[in-house]
Amino acid sequence: MNTKNSKLFVDDFMNYVRAKDPGQPEFHQAVHEVVESLADFLLDNPRYRHTQILERMVEAERIIQFRVPWMDDRGKIHINRGYRVEMNSAIGPYKGGLRFHPTVNQSILKFLAFEQVLKNSLTSLPMGGGKGGSDFDPKNKSDNEVMRFCQSFMTELSRHIGPYSDVPAGDIGVGGREIGFLFGQYKRIRNEFTGVLTGKGVEWGGSLIRPEATGYGAVYFAKEMMKTRGESFKGKVVAVSGSGNVAQFATEKVIELGGKVVTLSDSSGSIYDPEGIDRDKLNYVMELKNVHRGRIKEYADKYAVQYMEKQRPWIVKCDVALPCATENELNLEEAKMLIGNGCFVVAEGANMPSTEEAVHYFLEKQILYGPGKAANAGGVAVSGLEMTQNSMRIAWSREEVDTKLHSIMCNIHEMCMKYGKEKSEFTNYVKGANIAGFVKVANSMMAQGLV
Ligand code: GLU
Repeated sequence: MNTKNSKLFVDDFMNYVRAKDPGQPEFHQAVHEVVESLADFLLDNPRYRHTQILERMVEAERIIQFRVPWMDDRGKIHINRGYRVEMNSAIGPYKGGLRFHPTVNQSILKFLAFEQVLKNSLTSLPMGGGKGGSDFDPKNKSDNEVMRFCQSFMTELSRHIGPYSDVPAGDIGVGGREIGFLFGQYKRIRNEFTGVLTGKGVEWGGSLIRPEATGYGAVYFAKEMMKTRGESFKGKVVAVSGSGNVAQFATEKVIELGGKVVTLSDSSGSIYDPEGIDRDKLNYVMELKNVHRGRIKEYADKYAVQYMEKQRPWIVKCDVALPCATENELNLEEAKMLIGNGCFVVAEGANMPSTEEAVHYFLEKQILYGPGKAANAGGVAVSGLEMTQNSMRIAWSREEVDTKLHSIMCNIHEMCMKYGKEKSEFTNYVKGANIAGFVKVANSMMAQGLV
């Protein structure tokens, strides 16, 4: 290992990436984290450098951008922008979610697609990486408006996807309702009932446990990390951010394992319930968010607990933090606050929720830090299992899928330990996940020639 050489390597590579794609800060952040972890490994393994695998991996195989026109309930016309970033297909069809959110742009989708390539590789299932979406804002839209938008979006997207080429799913702003509308339109245009999307309803080809998978998986991963220090969730205080699908099922699993979740949040603020969110309160959150599409503040009003307006949860005292909202939702100052308050486990249910400075701080303090591409891989892993069930035309039971999810998360944890153990016996899960994810994709790319 040569620290000076590896720093030069990282700087050179990042200059190359920034020069090619200026103005894509989230993409640069995601690539930088990976290149930092890989530098020593690549210097020790020149075959990956000579074949320019990393240069090839940061270049999407294909990016599709398209117009999405649609009409609202009052007859007003709106024009949104749709995208699909087809990043890497070395180990399987492009696979990754669709995000509908006003912040969506190429930088965000390229960061997500790049992460997805390594994450999907870690699952050990045959899935390449992609990501897509639109700057459409589903907030305050009627079901009919969302349906018309989804139909317009899929009318174009359907030309570019298929069960053997690219299999989208959900992400922020795309849940069961949207997947239903998207699937209906794809089937209508192509006259094919196939597993072209995952996250489908169980009555029409979806997998049991898919809605639960990302949240459950993140908790299974955290459980494995805690085991290495003889710890468990029993009696632990847990701060969760977000209140969508990932946050809800992470909370459910923490409750089941005997922990106490004391926070949830949305983009307007956080609730702090020191008594803990129990099963009944969680049912209320699920109804509030999934049926009424309301705001988390209503929880504070209903249960007379503290509402922290415009605040994220990281200021409260906890043992475990599960960021399950969105990218860059946990900065250095908040990382210091968490650790100062005794937090020793951070497992990311969201993609890249910790800023680069926060990640460096976690590693410096040697806490149990599970980066998103490892900790939240359960979602896409069960999407992979949904694809398998669709191909076999069968449906597995809850227990079968949950057992497979659990063993996939344990396997990812093991791979992180294998590649991330440092001399001090500390496991750097960032390094472990990045190297383990990279090796399989890189070897496959080399085997397939310069394509
Ligand atoms: N959007 C999820 C993720 O970030 C799931 C993707 C999928 O199931 O394809 O991994």
